[in-house]
Amino acid sequence: MSFANLTAGEIAQKVRTKEMTAQAVATAYLDRIRVLDPKIQAFNEVFADHALAQAKAVDAQLASGKPAGPLAGVPIAIKDNMLIKGERCTCSSKILEGFVGAYDATVIQKLREAGAVFVGRTNLDEFAMGSSTENSAFRTTRNPWDLERVPGGSSGGSAAAVAARMAPLALGSDTGGSIRQPAAFCGILGFKPTYGRVSRFGLIAFASSLDQIGPFATSAKDTALLLQTIAGHDVHDSTSVNKPVPDYVSELKKDIKGLRIGLPKEYFVSGMDPEIEKAVRGAIKALEGAGAKVREISLPNTEHCLAVYYILAPSEASSNLSRFDGIRYGHRTTNATNLLELYERSRGEGFGPEVKRRIMLGTYALSSGYYDAYYAKAQKVRTLIKQDFDKAFLDVDIIATPTTPSAAFKPGEKVNDPLQMYLSDIFTTSCNLAGLPGLSIPCGMTSKKLPMGLQLLGRPFEEDVLLRVADHYEQLNDAYKQVPKL
Ligand code: GLN
Repeated sequence: MSFANLTAGEIAQKVRTKEMTAQAVATAYLDRIRVLDPKIQAFNEVFADHALAQAKAVDAQLASGKPAGPLAGVPIAIKDNMLIKGERCTCSSKILEGFVGAYDATVIQKLREAGAVFVGRTNLDEFAMGSSTENSAFRTTRNPWDLERVPGGSSGGSAAAVAARMAPLALGSDTGGSIRQPAAFCGILGFKPTYGRVSRFGLIAFASSLDQIGPFATSAKDTALLLQTIAGHDVHDSTSVNKPVPDYVSELKKDIKGLRIGLPKEYFVSGMDPEIEKAVRGAIKALEGAGAKVREISLPNTEHCLAVYYILAPSEASSNLSRFDGIRYGHRTTNATNLLELYERSRGEGFGPEVKRRIMLGTYALSSGYYDAYYAKAQKVRTLIKQDFDKAFLDVDIIATPTTPSAAFKPGEKVNDPLQMYLSDIFTTSCNLAGLPGLSIPCGMTSKKLPMGLQLLGRPFEEDVLLRVADHYEQLNDAYKQVPKL
């Protein structure tokens, strides 16, 4: 049986009914990783032995008559910025080489309880800063659709792993687009939940007012299943919200007739790849045909999103990353004669150029004399951006946009021009600034056979509505079914 075509839901079902063993599933996926990953380079480490041991435990639990969880035996890849007890965690940075997680992140603990099997930790742009994985200290991941192109970032390893069917599911983190953009580039679904929906306890922080953990999957149903597993309040994360978690899978069945979709005119601008505009408009037409009501809306502060994001995210990063001092975690220089030198050299040797750039930008924006002009001002504009959405959601139920202005680019194309790289986040940062849920779903292929993504934004905590639209769209367009030939 080919496991590569099975959904996570189907795998769990077959494992629970003992039609397949979790060990057979894990073996098949580990074999696939062994064959494909040397080309794709999605993984920083494959947990071959630990995954098999976990699968064996799931089988033993079932054999003893105990019920297994909703993800029984389902392999999952984890972005290398979430802690798994006893496993290394690097954020694809030299400064954390050799660092081992002392506890499980809450999402990891929930996945364990659900019976999922961790197949490995995936590559990212160092500390999740980037849009291509080129900022990883270890490797650039390749796009499974075209090995000469990037998978997007920062969660490029997770997206490429799922697109290449090296795992049916993966987790990523999204601060300004890092789940949705690589999902779009790799032709799969990527979901950033509402700020507060999923605990970040055990996620190594980049920008705490923006970071969120979320799923990668190949269908709306699998995305719902994974979100269901990881969502919910957590006493260890004071920003997680105490709201009941709906049953996302059964919510999919509800209709989308009469659902109001807004198209923000500021997201359909010149400069965008015409093939993407066409695919996105086609997707909206299809949803209209299925009974949704479409209208143009305006989000007037859209033009400020990138500038605000690139003040606030580096500011928070400069503070969050101050803990990597050569004393408490990871790399320590062997070349210091006093304490100050030890801090400076450990950080100088450990961090890569993009992380250093962000720390400098953030430190500058927060420094006395500039704080009001940059940081405080950006916070005010952030409020205006949020208010644009509040207003729009009085008239529409969801907002649809392209996920990215272009399809996957080539390594080297943007990495030497940071501003060009930052511009590729033009459609994704608003969602984090406003704290909204945002889902990217495949909506077609370019003439060069590269995937394109449709982004759906919703009201806070209305993840169910976005998933339902995605599920309906899958019945209208089977773009989500395409698998790269490898
Ligand atoms: N590409 C954006 C950045 O470099 C977003 C990254 C993210 O979401 N982690 O900041």
